[in-house]
Amino acid sequence: MAPTSLLLKNGTVIVHEANDHAKAIKADVLVQGNKITKIEPDIEVSSDVECIDCTDKIVAPGFVDTHRHMYTIGLRGRHGDHLLTDYMVQGILQSSNYEPTDIFWGQLAGCMEAINAGTTTVVDHSHLNYSEEAPRAAIAATATSGLRSVYGYCFNIRVDSWSPLTANPSFIAPWAVNTLEKLSREAPFGDGRVTLGLAFDGWFLPKEVLVPLFDQISKMGIKHITTHHMPPPPGVPSSVETMEAYGLLTSSVLLSHANMLSPNDISLIKKRKAHISSTPSVELQMAMGTPACFDSQRDVQACSSLGLDCHNVTLASIPAEMRAALANARGTEHQKFLSAGKIPARAYKTVQEAYALGTIQGARAIGFEDHIGSLAVGKLADIIVLDALSPTMICGAQQDPVIAIVMHSTPADVLMTIVDGVVRKRDGKLEPVAVDHGAQAYAGTGRSSLRWADVVKPLLKSRNAIQGRLDQIDFVEAKRAAMKVFGYDESKIVESV
Ligand SMILES: [Zn+2]
Repeated sequence: MAPTSLLLKNGTVIVHEANDHAKAIKADVLVQGNKITKIEPDIEVSSDVECIDCTDKIVAPGFVDTHRHMYTIGLRGRHGDHLLTDYMVQGILQSSNYEPTDIFWGQLAGCMEAINAGTTTVVDHSHLNYSEEAPRAAIAATATSGLRSVYGYCFNIRVDSWSPLTANPSFIAPWAVNTLEKLSREAPFGDGRVTLGLAFDGWFLPKEVLVPLFDQISKMGIKHITTHHMPPPPGVPSSVETMEAYGLLTSSVLLSHANMLSPNDISLIKKRKAHISSTPSVELQMAMGTPACFDSQRDVQACSSLGLDCHNVTLASIPAEMRAALANARGTEHQKFLSAGKIPARAYKTVQEAYALGTIQGARAIGFEDHIGSLAVGKLADIIVLDALSPTMICGAQQDPVIAIVMHSTPADVLMTIVDGVVRKRDGKLEPVAVDHGAQAYAGTGRSSLRWADVVKPLLKSRNAIQGRLDQIDFVEAKRAAMKVFGYDESKIVESV
């Protein structure tokens, strides 16, 4: 879809200063092609530019989500009381019950949901690789949606059977490296918005496998590596230490969660300028530790960013994650004062710091800070427009627009989302998407565009089909077996401490 020239007229524009402080100015924003070409007051309206009245609106950078599994929307409604030990079986491993068509509709809906919530860039940890077709279905959906994405191609544990639960003994499927190689020759996708990265959690593999594998991947031109960081069992090196030992720990590494880092991990992350994605809502729910981003004991805020992780578990809104990060860190830190019989002199962390995590620091986490994450002349036009008069935003938006976004906004307040200069949400409603050529086989013959209403029916049909497959599984038995697959010590699972 060709971008048009847009003039966002008379809005309250959020710009970032050099120290990441976001300030509101009265200005117009001119978008030409896929770039921001002017931010200044009273830009003249010309006939070849679409003028959008932004009076009583906030014009802000699109949010950057640095960790999400984009295809899982069909599993929603099942995980409200799940811990990670439940979710591994009923969430993560369920990719085995996704056919390529299920992936396509789930992924497209997930990407459109992100755009609806004002998220314009996502790092997708795509743990769905059961066939050569699976990542192609996901990439085709992402390209169709218009979202900007680092598509994290994943070598993942594959379920061979659910009764009893058994995993395929070869972690790297025979076709997986070849498929990645083929995709790397075709990348980027979606007019350059969708780039290829690697999502990798196989640090347990021996050095003789890992070193040549990453050598091959590097030769494919794949730069971004994202990984779930969990603490290792006693006596085993952490994934950070393994990456460092094999020369793989660089500024292109993005560690999701990373809540139980050792002092050595922290010093290596800082030395190699690697990055972290905190996903507060899911981490806090699923007993994955307290979010690293604002943890006073670990001092990793400068290299941190925010992600959703699972939109099938929680509200897919980066402002909601900003609030969760602040609320958790403040609760923890303020309690220390109260327990000592004192009162804190000031609130722990600031709204400004939370806002930076979900915007410019997200861009920095993937090395895109010169292109996205803030509004500036020369940057890509990834822009959202929020309603300053809605019931949730009014009075707050006029007092302090950044506080209004972080503390009050919901996806419903995002009236417009622009990605790469193209309007993807307008007047509070998602625009139809143009079906990418790779997506024709899934979208239905002859279909050149899809409205949200067109996505709903096949999505629900897919959800029902997946549920039918899930109904065949004995989850009590499967969980017991999965504990072994993932190396859990079951004797540590207790009712109380
Ligand atoms: Zn994850």
